[in-house]
Amino acid sequence: MKSRTRAVVIGGGIAGCSTLYHLTQEGWVDVVLVERNELTSGTTWHSAAQVTNFGMNQTMVGLKTHSINLYKELAEDSDYPINYHHGDGGIRLANTEAQMQGYRHFASMARGMDVHFEVIDAEECARRHPLISTDNLLGGLWDPLDGDIDPAQLCQALARRARKAGAEVYRNTSVVGLTQHKDDTWTVHTEHGDIDCDVVVNACGYRVNEVGAMMGVHHPVASMEHQYFLTEEIPAIKEAGHRMPLIRCAISDYYCRQEKNGLLVGFYEQNCKTWGMDGIDPNFVNALCPDDLERITDVLEGAFARMPALTEVGIHTVVNGPITYTIDGAPLVGPIPGKRNAYCIIGLRAGLGEGGGHGWLLAQQIVHGEACYDTWVLDPRRFAGHANVELTALKAIEDYQNEFRFHFPHEHRPAGRPAKTTPLTPALAAEGAEFTVVNGWERVDYIKPSPDFHPALSFDFDDAFDVVAAEVKNIQENVGLCEVNGFNRFEITGVDRHSFLDRMFCGHVTKREGRVGLGYLLNHHGMVKSEATIANLPASDRGPERVWYGSAAASEYHDMDWLTQHLRDGEDVQIRSMTNDQTILVLAGPMARRVLSACARGDWSREAFPWLSVRECFIGFAPATVMGVSFSGELAYEIHVPNASLYAAYLALREASEAHGLQLFGARAVESMRMEKGFLHWKADLTTEFDPFETGLGRFVRMEKGDFIGKAALERWMADGPRRKLVTLKVDCTHAPAHAGASLMQDGKVIGIVTSGEWGHRTGMNLAYAFVDLEHSAEGCTSKLDLCGDLIHATVIPFCPYDPDHTRIRS
Ligand SMILES: Cc1cc2nc3c(=O)[nH]c(=O)nc-3n(C[C@H](O)[C@H](O)[C@H](O)COP(=O)(O)OP(=O)(O)OC[C@H]3O[C@@H](n4cnc5c(N)ncnc54)[C@H](O)[C@@H]3O)c2cc1C
Repeated sequence: MKSRTRAVVIGGGIAGCSTLYHLTQEGWVDVVLVERNELTSGTTWHSAAQVTNFGMNQTMVGLKTHSINLYKELAEDSDYPINYHHGDGGIRLANTEAQMQGYRHFASMARGMDVHFEVIDAEECARRHPLISTDNLLGGLWDPLDGDIDPAQLCQALARRARKAGAEVYRNTSVVGLTQHKDDTWTVHTEHGDIDCDVVVNACGYRVNEVGAMMGVHHPVASMEHQYFLTEEIPAIKEAGHRMPLIRCAISDYYCRQEKNGLLVGFYEQNCKTWGMDGIDPNFVNALCPDDLERITDVLEGAFARMPALTEVGIHTVVNGPITYTIDGAPLVGPIPGKRNAYCIIGLRAGLGEGGGHGWLLAQQIVHGEACYDTWVLDPRRFAGHANVELTALKAIEDYQNEFRFHFPHEHRPAGRPAKTTPLTPALAAEGAEFTVVNGWERVDYIKPSPDFHPALSFDFDDAFDVVAAEVKNIQENVGLCEVNGFNRFEITGVDRHSFLDRMFCGHVTKREGRVGLGYLLNHHGMVKSEATIANLPASDRGPERVWYGSAAASEYHDMDWLTQHLRDGEDVQIRSMTNDQTILVLAGPMARRVLSACARGDWSREAFPWLSVRECFIGFAPATVMGVSFSGELAYEIHVPNASLYAAYLALREASEAHGLQLFGARAVESMRMEKGFLHWKADLTTEFDPFETGLGRFVRMEKGDFIGKAALERWMADGPRRKLVTLKVDCTHAPAHAGASLMQDGKVIGIVTSGEWGHRTGMNLAYAFVDLEHSAEGCTSKLDLCGDLIHATVIPFCPYDPDHTRIRS
């Protein structure tokens, strides 16, 4: 066994084998995989091993396409061919028009990744899969490349190729401890000796938290018991003369695929069960849980009704094994929060289909610092500290129960809520607030007109449309108040704070006390990494001279990692997170200044406190820090208040606003207004796939200033010129917003992808942002938006269609 290597991958299931192989492909060949038993002895060996192309965002579709292409190539390798039924096809069934509409959206989204799904009616479903009945069926999504693979052969093939490239695999070798050294390298302690390395990867499947504990972290991953059975031969399959496509049934929560001349049928029962919550027997190896068909009787009936042939055959094998779920159902693939040189590829609930792609994107991140796609949807740092064991288990159960039911726009499922609240939450609920969830925080979406107001889930504009319109109107004419909780806030102190930030930001960093600036951080590839406001606070009885760094609500772990990674030895900079301690009250509208002046001493005139100012004060008697910034495009103030004083500040603002028609508003009104202002959302419009010039942020870049992270790469990109450009579009329909991921078409070709869409209530326009090919980016260019299957005329308009000179903000 080697005593030193570059990377140690712990775990020899599909996740570990794929990572090892892809590390060698990305150029790291001095790497090893350590497996406590034999390869595939965790979940992988007994997987149903279906390989599908469907995903709910482009990153998932792209990585699954990589799996499919890789598996096809492996299967065709004459030196070591493996069994892969490629292209049997698969159908996701639906019995409601809303689900069908969702499928049409996913087909539009996948087309942008050159993946071609088809939405078909019930008769066509039955034609393609002769065993299903069309009762209570509207149709489905056809995924032509679906198939299944032999999981053990797949892992052996990946390990074999990795070994050929120089990697080593140590079987029957348990990792028993991990030590990180001062220089951020690791020692992996195994039962057969130590291995020093630069990078460790946790790919331990359901034992993820045993290895997590060795580095002092707990991952939000829980295991569920999951069952399938294999039937005896079904004569109709033999007679069909073609392989049966896969079925995923969102109506009765089961899936099936062909296995020899019978079926493999798996179930997602409501009466489901977590597994291993109180520890896992060390001898649970190549093992299964006891069969428990009783548990699946609820879904069995639905499967029998859909596939009557199942009632006529015997079951010859039942498989019940642990399957991992994360707190939001998507895997955790990327850097481990708060650690250096530590990565994970865990929480894979469809690891055979996805594993090839996940290993590919992870290896890119390890070797190059970033992957070819923005991987935020997989990033382990997308949750903050609330993602504990108990909450994860609740969400895992909920996800399992809804396995094939995708989330609709604005859908936030009830399990594990409320996870994070402020002292104001009950007061806002009493005012009729409908809440959305942002990184666990309950955030006001809008104020319901009546307690029983529950708009139906839909890809169209829902019944909250007029409610939001009224909130926006009141902000435009009077004044509105909105709680923005969970917004990321770091306090940065130390004499080197500004020189440090100068290095981190690609543009000018304001250093003047009492001033606020907006800026962008790039990665080493010159792509947009983060967006933050910088507010310079003078020394006061609340602290020394300091910078408040504010960024998106879910960015706390991500941004903290990025900033602290780039601190230099001896640099006098301290960074402290205040995210859970402070909440923002946004006061917006032409009357905002009057309300503020009525409850906070001091001169708040335009001259004394212009746009982009910051000042400490009291709202009533509640200590607060006020910033003159606006995401709505109206005169607005962000009032930052310690949570302990939040309710007091709220009451003072309400009292001060009695004469000014103040109404509460929520996140949906904000979304509408920011779209009209050309303001962007992190990880929707701002991603690591585009540079700041392509994203329309050229005015925030100062190439002439000293070095900053990403500058060299950006110079190279600039020489090549932009590939695509972010534009604002006016969409010619009134029934539905454009959805993120939707394709823009021109002459049958995809020429752009939507990143955000919402109705602009002040402009009366249906607005979207999209990255489009350069030749289609000029104002006036037109294209067709594939909006859930309807081709809708869309026109490029000025980036900021509402008050482009910001006169209202500055008023
Ligand atoms: C019944 C069932 C059906 C499924 N069907 C499908 C399907 O159709 N399609 C699909 O895509 N997915 C399916 N899945 C899910 C899929 O099988 C898993 O997502 C995948 O196998 C997980 O692979 P993994 O490598 O993450 O974990 P594992 O396969 O569990 O591998 C983890 C490895 O880490 C090793 N390890 C743990 N601790 C240590 C340690 N301390 N030191 C060294 N090694 C260690 C373990 O021994 C194990 O080999 C199914 C799962 C189940 C249970």
